Amino acid sequence: MVFSDKALEGKVVIVTGGGTGIGRGIVHGMAKLGARLVIASRSLEHLEPTAEEVRDMGGECLVVEADVRAPDQCAELVQDTVNRYGRVDTLVNNAAGNFRVAAEDLTPNGWRTVVDIDLNGTFNCSQAVFPVMKEQQSGSIINILAFTDLGGPGNVHAASAKSGIWGMTLTLATEWGKYNIRVNAITPGSIPTLGTVRNLRLGLRSEEPDDIGGEDAIKTLQGSPNTSIPLGRLGTPSDIGQAAIFLASDAASWITGAHLHVDGGKRLGGPSSGN
Ligand code: NAP
Repeated sequence: MVFSDKALEGKVVIVTGGGTGIGRGIVHGMAKLGARLVIASRSLEHLEPTAEEVRDMGGECLVVEADVRAPDQCAELVQDTVNRYGRVDTLVNNAAGNFRVAAEDLTPNGWRTVVDIDLNGTFNCSQAVFPVMKEQQSGSIINILAFTDLGGPGNVHAASAKSGIWGMTLTLATEWGKYNIRVNAITPGSIPTLGTVRNLRLGLRSEEPDDIGGEDAIKTLQGSPNTSIPLGRLGTPSDIGQAAIFLASDAASWITGAHLHVDGGKRLGGPSSGN
């Protein structure tokens, strides 16, 4: 444990896509340090089990069914959060959709869908939370990126959307700094979540958050040669959770417009497997 177990005590954190994968890892890590959580996505089936896990840990977790593509649903998500907890300290824009396809075969609808979830969804939630954070004169927005260093073969839609989110991160950090709203980004390396394994269309073995897909998934994510991750292992959702905890905490109170690469050094180590 890097932080004291009260590092996020009382802080109210919204995590989009918080029921699965990396979002769930962030939720677990933050709940352990005293944060009060709100998790949102399209499917209660994805959200309820994670909320139950937080409650079993003695934490608080509100579940909100919301599609980040719809600005009115993002506004309701923020309103539900304020109704329950009275404030919003951190928004983690983690929700994303993706599927692997060669750029020349991508349909207009496929392009629009991914850009709508990743890029527009991040903006919709950020804009929805702004008035609350402005009123508080404090807030932290954490955007989860991908493909920002190595490109993303088979992911031109997501790579374009995520690079757009980096531009959004820098711009909002500049515009909203005067309200003490910090906006930062994390690029995870290869984390074998269900979403990634499905994206790679590889066999699954387990739905445990820190467990991973079949051997093929592991090999593909590790890249070839396997030494392409200098720290020698794939990441876990909790690796990303720890970085998000830092950016949400008071320890990062003078950090905005920053981009943390939480990837075991993968971007230094050779060709990408697509993440
Ligand atoms: P994941 O488990 O598939 O997570 C995606 C989440 O987004 C799901 O919980 C999904 O829930 C939610 N979501 C999708 N569309 C939505 C919508 N329209 N509105 C609201 N929620 C929506 O995959 P993951 O690997 O954990 O990915 C999490 C984040 O990490 C993503 O931003 C991804 O780009 C990033 N990332 C992952 C890796 C990796 O190796 N895993 C690497 C780099 C970056 P519902 O289906 O219930 O809506």
